[in-house]
Amino acid sequence: MVDNSTSQVIHLDHVRKQYGSFTAVEDANFTIGRGEFFAMLGPSGCGKTTTLKMIAGFEQPTSGSVFLEGVDVSTVPPYKRNVNTVFQQYALFPHMSVADNIAFGPRSKKLSESEVKKRVGDMLDVVRLAEFADRRPSQLSGGQQQRVALARALVNYPSALLLDEPLAALDLKLREAMQIELKRIQREVEITFVFVTHDQGEALTMSDRIAVMSQGVVEQIGTPVDIYKKPESLFVAGFIGSANLLPSTVSQFDAAGGTVVLNGGGTVTVGRDNVASDVTWATGEEVTIMLRPEHLHVTVERPAGDALQAEVTDVVFQGSAVRLVLQLDNGTEVTAIVGGDADLPFLRPGAAVWLSWLATSPYVLDGWPDLAGATTTNLESIEAAL
Ligand code: ADP
Ligand code: MG
Repeated sequence: MVDNSTSQVIHLDHVRKQYGSFTAVEDANFTIGRGEFFAMLGPSGCGKTTTLKMIAGFEQPTSGSVFLEGVDVSTVPPYKRNVNTVFQQYALFPHMSVADNIAFGPRSKKLSESEVKKRVGDMLDVVRLAEFADRRPSQLSGGQQQRVALARALVNYPSALLLDEPLAALDLKLREAMQIELKRIQREVEITFVFVTHDQGEALTMSDRIAVMSQGVVEQIGTPVDIYKKPESLFVAGFIGSANLLPSTVSQFDAAGGTVVLNGGGTVTVGRDNVASDVTWATGEEVTIMLRPEHLHVTVERPAGDALQAEVTDVVFQGSAVRLVLQLDNGTEVTAIVGGDADLPFLRPGAAVWLSWLATSPYVLDGWPDLAGATTTNLESIEAAL
């Protein structure tokens, strides 16, 4: 292994946070690299803010240690840590100009006025607000104010910038624009960003890596593609994107792969690569087949190979795609996404169709889900299922 200790900006070493008898964060143990855009993603209450506060120093771990740039800072107060935090409520100084808001940090560090000017100018360029330097915050739009807050937090070049749901208050269009803008700014300044969000789309859009959390536990850390394609738990499979989760039973599985029988009937052939790890399952074990909606093919005729019979219950035209809700023979609801330009006159509610997939598409997970069928990306329903 290469020695990349200098590339490690943040390291959590078996960090645990307990409030009374309640465990808010359990054994967080991971490293965030220099220049990484790292998201912490999970439903409300899973411990994201608490983890961020321990990195910033606003909370102390009950056990374990927090390292910044290789130094144990577990007992170091926030103002002595070289990290900055941007909260959802970014309090700009209302009576100061944009430039003075950004200059506040460097001035309190007693940098020379020429250095302050240079840094403020650089930051105004990074956030593309040079022509607004003399305005007051109240004369800016919400997105512009957000960028001032970012510039103010970045101007002293912290080791890392911590962002706690910074876009949650913005409306959808502005939020999407700011996601791209934030990512661009992060690439430009090359500072580590730790970005907390409950919005999986946001995390997938922006991050180099994502830590998916549930109930105080980091369930999986990986690139957006890894986490989407190879979820390591049912929670991650259901929380990231949308997934059809079909409870099944192993009929045979060895080093070459095997076959799994859906609980409602139907056989799914599974290759060796379609599983999370090097597991082998015994006959009769409870597993779940994950089939992403975009991997389902819908036909009237029965195709060769594995296929399931289903009835169309709903057809939703979404412009670039058509979202189909279907019911399997056993009553399980599944979702399929087909191309919007596909000529599919047979796809009406009540139509009997066949669902099939490429051999590489089904993915096997341990255990059975609480809710069979399609998981939505709707937070309420995910939380209700927890
Ligand atoms: P998230 O940011 O993921 O929504 P938090 O980290 O804010 O979650 O909270 C995690 C859990 O810890 C929640 O159940 C919350 O109620 C609890 N919690 C957070 N702060 C405190 C505190 N100061 N005292 C007691 N419980 C807390
Ligand atoms: Mg929070």
